Amino acid sequence: MTQVTILGSTGSIGLSTLDVLSRHIEQYQIYALTAYQSVDTLFAQCQQFEPQIAVMLDEQSAERLAEKIRNAGLDTTVLSGLQALNDVASAEQVDYVVAAIVGAAGLMPTLAAAKTGKHILLANKEALVMSGQLFMREVERNGATLLPVDSEHNAIWQCLPVGESQQYHYDGKGIKRIILTASGGPFRDYDKADLVNVTPEQAVAHPNWSMGKKISVDSATMMNKGLEVIEAHWLFGLSNEQIDVVLHKQSIIHSMVDYIDGSVLAQMGNPDMRTPIANALAWPKRIDSGVAPLDLVAVGQLHFSEANHDHFPCLALAYQALKAGGTSTAILNAANEVAVEAFLNRQIKFTDIAKTIDYVLTEQSATSGDNLTQVLADDQLARDLATRFIQH
Ligand code: NAD
Ligand code: MG
Repeated sequence: MTQVTILGSTGSIGLSTLDVLSRHIEQYQIYALTAYQSVDTLFAQCQQFEPQIAVMLDEQSAERLAEKIRNAGLDTTVLSGLQALNDVASAEQVDYVVAAIVGAAGLMPTLAAAKTGKHILLANKEALVMSGQLFMREVERNGATLLPVDSEHNAIWQCLPVGESQQYHYDGKGIKRIILTASGGPFRDYDKADLVNVTPEQAVAHPNWSMGKKISVDSATMMNKGLEVIEAHWLFGLSNEQIDVVLHKQSIIHSMVDYIDGSVLAQMGNPDMRTPIANALAWPKRIDSGVAPLDLVAVGQLHFSEANHDHFPCLALAYQALKAGGTSTAILNAANEVAVEAFLNRQIKFTDIAKTIDYVLTEQSATSGDNLTQVLADDQLARDLATRFIQH
């Protein structure tokens, strides 16, 4: 039996993962489930999946969960805090770690999984954006296996040459470039001038995907695609010139690999995260995911257009940070997290998200990015600068 820890089991990716796992319960056993403070959801998951351990980051939430677990007569041990998250990601008996915490908060436990050589099903793209250099070094040094869950990267992964012993270096394998597809989010067809007045409710209402709030806003600004360009750079060892983005409003082609002989391989499917999750869980085999079969006749047409950097300045900022290198991408990520939170709290306008990130990237000098303490210090400084910019 494969023992699985799900970091962030109560979120959108966590729920989809448990849905897939519930179809294959003879193959996978849940070792640990974790959440920030959603007591009721985590309790229901404990009742259904009976994990050995449940972790809540928040101590009071952990106390409430522990009481419910006791009253229900369950065997699950309840822990709290960051160290507990690191422990369940690196415990000896764990084989697979699903990294589905949102934002920088996911970095330390995901890194703990890398340091202990786990199979990591990576949804938490922010971990790679913050510290790709360090993260990939730990993966390689400790023989961890990184399986992309982000739908675009999972698509690329499926279209890359198979049977490579060294997974992460695709240079010289006949790849010209990769093409990440982007739906363009809810504001794809808006006039630029109208973006200033859009609300958080409009921003989180994604046309094709149902996701957590933060990534939904990132999809609306297209910072999500920017973070994915950076993620692809680290995952596949490709330069920024080899990573293109194209708008594809149906979200049926999840991304493509363009080879030097003119072949372009694409992975298709309905926009449902259970497909990439099932692919990563079973790799190199395949298992049923519960996703409805793709009906191409019903889809009718596949449409493509340019991802305009003027319409989506966050995408341009992400390329700029990737080119600048070092901790620039950690600074970009931190400023974005602060700005998105402020937008969701109605402290700033939608168009101020890009302005905040631009300000912080201009003000702050990046460092080399090969030292975790420095990465975390640069992340904190970027958060402070972004907060100050928003408040003035
Ligand atoms: P979500 O907000 O729905 O869920 C986040 C999970 O993390 C929850 O379980 C929450 O309790 C936990 N969490 C939040 N803050 C935490 C903290 N400070 N410490 C510990 N745990 C914390 O998010 P999501 O949409 O499931 O996204 C999760 C990650 O997957 C993100 O990095 C996102 O970019 C990535 N991703 C999501 C999708 C998607 O379809 N939702 C697709 C691709 C990639
Ligand atoms: Mg994606």
